[in-house]
Amino acid sequence: AGDSENLKTVSGAEVIAQALKKQNVEYMFGVVGIPVTEIAVAAQAAGIKYVGMRNEQAASYAASAVGYLTGRPGVCLVVSGPGLIHALSGMANANMNCWPLIVVGGSSDCNQEMMGAFQEFPQVEACRLYSKLSVRPSSVEAIPFVIEKAVRTSIYGRPGACYVDIPGDFVNLQVNASSIKYVECCLPPPVNMADASAVSTAASIIRNAKQPLLIIGKGAAYAHAEENIRKLVEQCGLPFLPTPMGKGVVPDNHPNCVAAARSRALQHADVIILLGARLNWILHFGLPPRYQADVKIIQVDICAEELGNNVKPAAALLGDINAVTAQLLEHYNKRPWQYPSNAGWWKVLREKMKSNEEASKELASQKSLPMNYYTVFYHVQEQLPRDCIIVSEGANTMDIGRTVLQNYLPRHRLDAGTFGTMGVGLGFAIAAALVTKDRNPEKRVVCVEGDSAFGFSGMEVETICRHNLPILLIVVNNNGIYQGFDADTWKEITKLGEISQVAPPVSLLPNSRYEQIMTAFGGKGYFVQTPGELQNALRTSLAEKTVPSLINVMIEPQASRKKQDFHWLTRSNM
Ligand code: ADP
Ligand code: MG
Repeated sequence: AGDSENLKTVSGAEVIAQALKKQNVEYMFGVVGIPVTEIAVAAQAAGIKYVGMRNEQAASYAASAVGYLTGRPGVCLVVSGPGLIHALSGMANANMNCWPLIVVGGSSDCNQEMMGAFQEFPQVEACRLYSKLSVRPSSVEAIPFVIEKAVRTSIYGRPGACYVDIPGDFVNLQVNASSIKYVECCLPPPVNMADASAVSTAASIIRNAKQPLLIIGKGAAYAHAEENIRKLVEQCGLPFLPTPMGKGVVPDNHPNCVAAARSRALQHADVIILLGARLNWILHFGLPPRYQADVKIIQVDICAEELGNNVKPAAALLGDINAVTAQLLEHYNKRPWQYPSNAGWWKVLREKMKSNEEASKELASQKSLPMNYYTVFYHVQEQLPRDCIIVSEGANTMDIGRTVLQNYLPRHRLDAGTFGTMGVGLGFAIAAALVTKDRNPEKRVVCVEGDSAFGFSGMEVETICRHNLPILLIVVNNNGIYQGFDADTWKEITKLGEISQVAPPVSLLPNSRYEQIMTAFGGKGYFVQTPGELQNALRTSLAEKTVPSLINVMIEPQASRKKQDFHWLTRSNM
């Protein structure tokens, strides 16, 4: 028996699969080819769910969304050279979003290095800029060690992307099974609390606030801090504002949510409690004229280097959001305090909310055809199941959609994010649909895309149909990027000369039948032009629980956002 044990061999591909499985990796997305096909096969054999995608970009986006949704990294498996380069998009996006992700890339054989091997590229170097860790194991025996380190690094501290480079000749190399030592699954990320004195400083600043505001970011969503944050909001009676992916940590319809008065809330708050959101472009850097020059920021973040970025905080609370919120709650349990519900601040905020909400209702009720954005989103909002996951991208589609489409649960909104990446939608939707299929099969994933955004990864509709994921895709079609042209105008313009010279850069072909991309693969497609048609298409596709659908909604090509009070709002993504 001892002898046959010694003779047992295992391939590099099997070692990779087993090592990932040991680290509780559940999902892998990729595009196979030389030299990684065997890794995908071994992963499936090991019980990892492998989804073959049509482009590595979409695969890397999908894997990163798994990380955000589950707190464990998904894996993106890619071939060497161009395959890895396509996946850099997802690594960059994950890193910018602070989401865990593991990319496993095949690379050229060890003994061909620097010789001009097939798809040879300095991959470890290339990934360095897009990751927390970029490494190449020195032997098949070193793979389990490297994979544990990559998984651990991706979720510890500020989450991010990690890259593991696998020389092609490792994949089919047979090594003695007894020489492989698998590393135990890494522990969940350690939870750290903030310094007690910083907590009491913060608590007393909040107590003395005249116009407080709590900002809830996607870091709070990732931290699963929803219960404690809700308690803090309610116990202290604080107005709160979610960032785009912070939506749903506390439900959008909570009476303390002041999202509809966003600009005013930011501009006049004297104390801001920042929970897992960076003061980057999304929050206008925390600077005037969007904020008071002397606004007191209480910053809560897991990443020490983030504290003090752009604005010097009045209190810096380094720690896990859930734990730190619990510390604040403990303080207010001992010495109860509530912000007065009759404060003038509430009146200022509520008045603004009311007028903003009325303005969008007014736009939504317009009867003219083609429809405008608001009309479309009001009908969508009316029918969306409360617990659905909303994926959204596009310029106006995402910006306007966010103000109308409500989130009631945490981690139920995925969008272009910190990096403003277009093309993430279908990958995110596929990941969300897989995760919910395994955990909550009743739940729907609805992907609201601009026509341009949809184009970045439209062929992933085939992936959706192949895996039978009942995703509802809604393409809000204005024939272009930002704005397009109607068919007649388009004909006029393009008739004037060479099409390549006069086709305006923002325009896409008018009246494109995107729904036929869905019917091509066996899903259901709807082409809608009126509110009635939209309502019917939504009703039918949401009732259909097993088949993917795409609703192509024609809107006014020149439709835009409602009039904004400030000129700076017309350009921003918020
Ligand atoms: P948003 O886009 O919603 O404004 P950001 O991505 O800018 O959010 O910010 C998220 C922040 O949350 C990052 O600075 C990140 O370090 C932080 N973060 C992530 N996880 C945790 C956690 N468990 N505890 C505290 N902070 C966290
Ligand atoms: Mg468009």
